[in-house]
Amino acid sequence: MGDVQTVLGPVSPDKLGATLAHEHVFSVTPEIQRDFPALSWQGTREDAIRYAAEKLAEVARRGIGTIIDCTTIDHGRDLPALIEVNRQVPINIVAATGLYTHDKLPFFYKFRPERTAGGVPRKDVILEMFLQDITEGIQGTGAKAGIIKVTTDAEGATPNIERILRSAARAHRETGVPITTHTNAAYETGLAQLEIFRSEGVDPQRVVIGHSGDSSDFDYLRRILDTGAFIGADRFGYYRPGQPGIDAKVKTVVELCREGYADQILLAHDSVVYADWWELFPPTWEDLPAEWVPTHISDTIIPAFQANGLTNEQIDTMMVKNPARLLGNNDAY
Ligand SMILES: [Zn+2]
Repeated sequence: MGDVQTVLGPVSPDKLGATLAHEHVFSVTPEIQRDFPALSWQGTREDAIRYAAEKLAEVARRGIGTIIDCTTIDHGRDLPALIEVNRQVPINIVAATGLYTHDKLPFFYKFRPERTAGGVPRKDVILEMFLQDITEGIQGTGAKAGIIKVTTDAEGATPNIERILRSAARAHRETGVPITTHTNAAYETGLAQLEIFRSEGVDPQRVVIGHSGDSSDFDYLRRILDTGAFIGADRFGYYRPGQPGIDAKVKTVVELCREGYADQILLAHDSVVYADWWELFPPTWEDLPAEWVPTHISDTIIPAFQANGLTNEQIDTMMVKNPARLLGNNDAY
């Protein structure tokens, strides 16, 4: 078990405490932040940092010790802001490298696959970026990525997505940093991810198939779990029309724990503390569920688990032991 890289430095896995395994602190569109900062920050950057610190302090007060921030290179990461927030709040934040696209990639990537240029072998630029974030740090801050996040949505594992997944697998094996994913559970895209990872020699026990808790298809979920992979029951609070609601999501976790899978389940909300996608004042996210905040599991879901017969030991396994095992199992191979 090696130390876990957090934005404020390495932390021993047994010091992580209760962990939310898939959240986002800042999602601030880089070119908007650069060219139209007042639109991005809706006031000053300091205001947004203060706002995020207040929201994260509420999470820390619930006894949450760590959050894994799954915001990728192309999803509005802002490490300097994240570090400033973290200095104000007693919580560990694990930052991610990775890419979030359902298929399309900007031109930057198009002509830079793995290749030989002038007789010299060159890594895929995507792999090179993942490795730099993990070994040197993100955005010049020196804060190293502690997880690799990649995506397969309804479009499936298209050539672009496959290229990203293979780069993630190679960066993972070269550095030991675990992989977490976004899936579209309705399209069961977690299985294709695992297939690609395994063809790269990745041990499924080092992977989280994220957003699996959006599915109530136990056959699909068991097929993932039986590979040894973790699943993310990581969208509590994100209750959307046509998708499982709170009762169904609680029931899925309770049933899987009854079947003996507690040691492969991770919990989170996939919430975003501050995104420039929505206006804060007045808020333009009224169509989003009010429960979609990073305190919802502490306040509502854990009591619901207990009312449905889960033991504190099972809850502790999902919130404390599993994240420590995922993040601490970080030797290269
Ligand atoms: Zn997410």
